[in-house]
Amino acid sequence: MVNKSNNKNKVIIIGAGLGGICTALRLSKIGYKVSIIEKNESLGGKITSFSSKGYKFDQGPSLITLPDYFDEFFKDIGENINEHIELIKLNPMCRYFFDDGNKVDYFSSLDLMKKELDKVGEDFQNFYNFLSIGAKIYELSDKTFLNFPMGRVPKNIKIGDLIKFPYLRTLMSYKSLVNKTFSSPKIKQIFERYPTYVGSSPENTPGMLFVIPYIEYAFGSWYIKGGIYKLIESLEKLLVENEVEIIKNCVVKNIQISNNKITGVETSKGQISTKIVINNTDISNLNKYKNQKLNENIDDYSLSGFVLMLGLKKKIDLKHHNIIFSKDYKKEFDDLFKRKKFPEDPTIYVCNPTATDESVAPQNCSNLFIMANSPATSNIWTDAEIELARNKVLNKLKKINIHLEKSIIDVEKIQTPNYFMNQHNSYGGSLYGKNSHGIKNSFFRHPNKEKTKGLYNVGGTTHPGGGTPTVIKSSKITTDLIKNDY
Ligand SMILES: Cc1cc2nc3c(=O)[nH]c(=O)nc-3n(C[C@H](O)[C@H](O)[C@H](O)COP(=O)(O)OP(=O)(O)OC[C@H]3O[C@@H](n4cnc5c(N)ncnc54)[C@H](O)[C@@H]3O)c2cc1C
Repeated sequence: MVNKSNNKNKVIIIGAGLGGICTALRLSKIGYKVSIIEKNESLGGKITSFSSKGYKFDQGPSLITLPDYFDEFFKDIGENINEHIELIKLNPMCRYFFDDGNKVDYFSSLDLMKKELDKVGEDFQNFYNFLSIGAKIYELSDKTFLNFPMGRVPKNIKIGDLIKFPYLRTLMSYKSLVNKTFSSPKIKQIFERYPTYVGSSPENTPGMLFVIPYIEYAFGSWYIKGGIYKLIESLEKLLVENEVEIIKNCVVKNIQISNNKITGVETSKGQISTKIVINNTDISNLNKYKNQKLNENIDDYSLSGFVLMLGLKKKIDLKHHNIIFSKDYKKEFDDLFKRKKFPEDPTIYVCNPTATDESVAPQNCSNLFIMANSPATSNIWTDAEIELARNKVLNKLKKINIHLEKSIIDVEKIQTPNYFMNQHNSYGGSLYGKNSHGIKNSFFRHPNKEKTKGLYNVGGTTHPGGGTPTVIKSSKITTDLIKNDY
């Protein structure tokens, strides 16, 4: 480890999303002098919260997977995770509601899961096969892709790891792999949803993404007591303790480069000189910062979302995570990815955290975070479009007998792709940067190190990918690259 007093290298991080914050802590722990510049009033980027009348909403992530990655991060910076956040494992992980009135509880325990599979006529052996394929993909990904910079083949990789990798399955389309693995239409629908975790379509993503449901099943679905934003509150305290300079309400306009080397950044509060800049903002911003032409195609970007947050004056009979499926999933994906519109019949995700944690709403009340996928767009949503989407979402809830009359709605807040675009500076409000369509987008995310000397990237729109655990991994990869270079 570099001694703090020996390393005077100054690092500027653009954006205080999870990736920026974790990298700031890692670098400050090993002696770098770090400043983090955030355009908003609060830290956390897409992990953000909103409170009103005693209801506390997580407006971004609600599902935590791979808790070991969080644990590893805290250990790496010399901290004990349990002194900062309390992780709670959820079982069932999710309740799925189907259009025909049936439901499936997705249990983390195999004995209970088997009963649910029996209910919908799925062979347990098929579920076992899914776990077996997923495990092989995960094992190799963990030894390569997830822990190293793009394109670097680690030395400890063994021939055995390469031989047992299910190449054919990972290269066929995700949807084909689901069809090949399962027989029950309901289980197929559950599995077809997973590519939307990275804002992508099951038809266009490779089978490699089977790793997503595997990770969720093998490592569980977790919640942070008090709300996911507790993570950011804890990390902000650590930033202060570690003397990271936090500059809020400050927009980085340009990255200054001379002779292909970083010299500084131009911000709304003035110029700062530095040799090392880490971009934690949506990767589409890089060209803008370099005064180059924005050369992006919205079709390459992941989905955005329509979000309805409701504070309700009563308890709602739902699990923590719930999915209410559309009748025709193919048509819904065609609406999203081909017709590029908010679906006629959207699948909705409902997070009901009071099922686990009474502290996030007043007594006998509940707070619901409801989200439907929507294409990323820079077109402004009209009031009529917002009202239509809201009605579709509320009608979906009626289908499972949840009738939300005006009189029980205490708090209401709506977010459209326009909000995500403006709040997080993400292209068209896309939530995960480029989508994972095709081999190139899935396997070759934007690298953590640029050709310009001193310029690095971190976060969900870069390697190894979107989602909180991979963002934490990207902070490790970027830190290692800088440690090696300076
Ligand atoms: C609605 C929603 C639901 C999600 N659900 C889940 C989930 O359940 N599980 C999961 O694991 N992940 C989920 N995610 C994804 C997860 O939140 C992200 O992958 C992760 O938080 C991204 O972190 P990041 O480091 O890429 O930075 P970001 O969160 O993208 O933060 C970037 C920061 O940069 C700032 N910034 C931008 N431009 C500038 C500028 N010019 N100058 C200064 N600052 C700037 C922004 O304000 C922002 O704070 C969800 C995301 C959203 C939005």
